[in-house]
Amino acid sequence: MLFRLAPNTPRFEVFNLLNEELLHFLEQSVSTNTFSRALFTQGAVGQACWTNSPTREKSERLFNALQAAGNDTKRQLFQAVLDNQNLEAFFWAPQRDLFDFMNETCQVTLKSLCTHLYCSTKDLAPVVRASGGTNITDHFNAYSSPAVNGKICKACGMKELAAFRAGIPEGDQWRADYDHQLCKSKYPIFSVHPDNLVPLCDVCNQDAKKAKDLFRHKNGTNRLAFYPYNEEAKGLIVIEIENLRDPEPRIKIKWNTQNDALLDKLNTWNEIYEIRSRVEGQFRSLEAIIEDEICPRDSIHLASRISDEARPNSINTLKRKEWAFWFQKLFSTLDQVDISPFVAKWNFVQQQAADGGEYILFE
Ligand SMILES: [Zn+2]
Repeated sequence: MLFRLAPNTPRFEVFNLLNEELLHFLEQSVSTNTFSRALFTQGAVGQACWTNSPTREKSERLFNALQAAGNDTKRQLFQAVLDNQNLEAFFWAPQRDLFDFMNETCQVTLKSLCTHLYCSTKDLAPVVRASGGTNITDHFNAYSSPAVNGKICKACGMKELAAFRAGIPEGDQWRADYDHQLCKSKYPIFSVHPDNLVPLCDVCNQDAKKAKDLFRHKNGTNRLAFYPYNEEAKGLIVIEIENLRDPEPRIKIKWNTQNDALLDKLNTWNEIYEIRSRVEGQFRSLEAIIEDEICPRDSIHLASRISDEARPNSINTLKRKEWAFWFQKLFSTLDQVDISPFVAKWNFVQQQAADGGEYILFE
């Protein structure tokens, strides 16, 4: 994450309940050989899982697969899920091959049930009612309110989570998709874990992250990742400008730490959300940025506007405004380097384009 989640970030109660239900189901499965209503909790959520045919069928398929695999597998699965409920601890010491002890049928049926709990069971009316009536849109509105996380994607700081429309009731506003930090396909038991779900912008979630594994690079090497609730990249980034004398200076994103664990997490964050290439892509033309963001009258105006834009944003601006973090970072670099070669070059270009003095030229 570029920004850690706010300390008052609400957890989605439906996920709390479904996560408990899953744990209860696995625990009860250890001590019984028959698939029955008794495998589910006694309350409304257990009843909803039992009466909803697809949820019950997927539960039964997992139960049968575990039953065929034997008591050791049942016990081991329940223990593995129970022992890994603390997601923060999991981020510090990831168990990358948590389910290797299970045969393929068990793995497939576990994945299928957990995915279903997330995709469908969470929206069942009795489940929402049991959670105090808060559905996922209500949760999103609470998550993204100004006093909590605000509207900007925490992973990238570049995009709004969802466009806000005036005159539309809260419950009908658009919402962002929720990302499973630990993806459903590789870490199914966290499909409805309340700490594992974070709303992200569509570029982060759908274009960049997809089902990438936070703890293992696609080349097979192990890695670590920021825990979204208390770690962030924000203070560990510098922007450098190379070749200011060249026709097109290059803006580069670099890491401002020597700490190996932090570098590892920064590289993971960068690879998952494609941060560097997105920022360097947005910042590919310094000339265009100056023209679009500053529109300077002359070189003195340019210098003073760069200083203005270099001032740190308020926390509220960072929660409201797309790209605010990155532009401030860029202008703060520009404020510290000698941009006279760039200004001289631009001056020359402006002079050529002026064609008889329509433009005010830099001195
Ligand atoms: Zn994003």
